[in-house]
Amino acid sequence: MSELAHGTLAGLAEIADIGRDARRGGYSRQLWQGPDLELRAWFALRAERLGLAVETDRNGNLWAWWGTPGPDAVVTGSHLDSVPGGGAYDGPLGVVSALEAVGRLQASGFTPSRPCAVLVFAEEEGSRFGIACLGSRLLTGGIDADRARALTDADGITLAEAAATAGLDPRRLGADPEALARIGLFLELHVEQGRGLIDLGRPVAVASSILAHGRWRLTVSGQGNHAGTTLMTGRRDPMVAAARAIVAVQETAAAIPGARATVGRLEVVPGGTNVIASSVHAWLDARCDTEAGTRALVAAITAQVERAVSLNGCSVAVTEESWTGTVAFDAALAGRFAAALGGVPALPTGAGHDAGVLSASVPSAMLFVRNPTGISHSPEEFAEVEDCVAGIDALEALLRSLL
Ligand SMILES: [Zn+2]
Repeated sequence: MSELAHGTLAGLAEIADIGRDARRGGYSRQLWQGPDLELRAWFALRAERLGLAVETDRNGNLWAWWGTPGPDAVVTGSHLDSVPGGGAYDGPLGVVSALEAVGRLQASGFTPSRPCAVLVFAEEEGSRFGIACLGSRLLTGGIDADRARALTDADGITLAEAAATAGLDPRRLGADPEALARIGLFLELHVEQGRGLIDLGRPVAVASSILAHGRWRLTVSGQGNHAGTTLMTGRRDPMVAAARAIVAVQETAAAIPGARATVGRLEVVPGGTNVIASSVHAWLDARCDTEAGTRALVAAITAQVERAVSLNGCSVAVTEESWTGTVAFDAALAGRFAAALGGVPALPTGAGHDAGVLSASVPSAMLFVRNPTGISHSPEEFAEVEDCVAGIDALEALLRSLL
């Protein structure tokens, strides 16, 4: 990323070494852990350099205000956390672009007539506590505060404990109508996480909709035992059952047009080389074009998984961990923005975003920047400098027209 060091995207260069994951490749930046704390400090410094007033809300979201905070503010931003082994652009591109756009407006002598803020959402990926868009869900009351406080990370630390360690009052986690009421409009710029813009040959798009999606935990239970003394016949091995279940997930989804179903994470209990496992947790991410379609997909997967695990004498419990209905962004707003940008295309996406969560509460829109690899949630995620600049140009133009 050295070519960015002195350019428009200096911000990306400045954070290029924070949270690098030597084992997985790419970046692992989990909420309130070392790299995330470093990124938060970097953001505060960067924002303060622009004269913005930085505050942390009750849920750990960072706000940087240009002028007096709300109401009717134009708010732009994204997130700084990542999936395990994620790319450099998913989240940070939106934050860096927002700071850059504000800096450009200031440098041009522009005076906003309404408040403006750059917002960094906490735990967008759900990599630490399992619920995607947790910061925006908490802010909008989209998740029950008690349920959120009890969420645990891989080390058994609850969100409440982690929040306290980060200096927040865990009793105050949850819906924050006062903070929310300050937002008149939310605009998130994000690297595209698919191939839409590649296929169109365009650098920038507005978002039209987000697929319904959710996460389910499949707990496959069998009989834990000794790997050496237990003959192959009569085993109830949940590892083998889970393998069958994962194949069933893939085959079920492949037979339904538009369906996407993924098992990307497993936890084997107890997890020993000479131990037949007693249970396996597998996490299912499932998405389809409509809410009914996604529900039907998960119902079909559940039936096939139950059948698959029974072949090894095991059982499975399917628990919903999160659900997001189809998000249709305000079509009039998206159309207005697309026209203002000279007729950029409108694209749907299969990826969830804080802007989607916010859209249930406030007018929200998104800008996508072309990703020439079409790959995301991976170190191969990419964006050309000129496309990033086109994204900042678009964001700056929209902010100028809105402010
Ligand atoms: Zn993202």
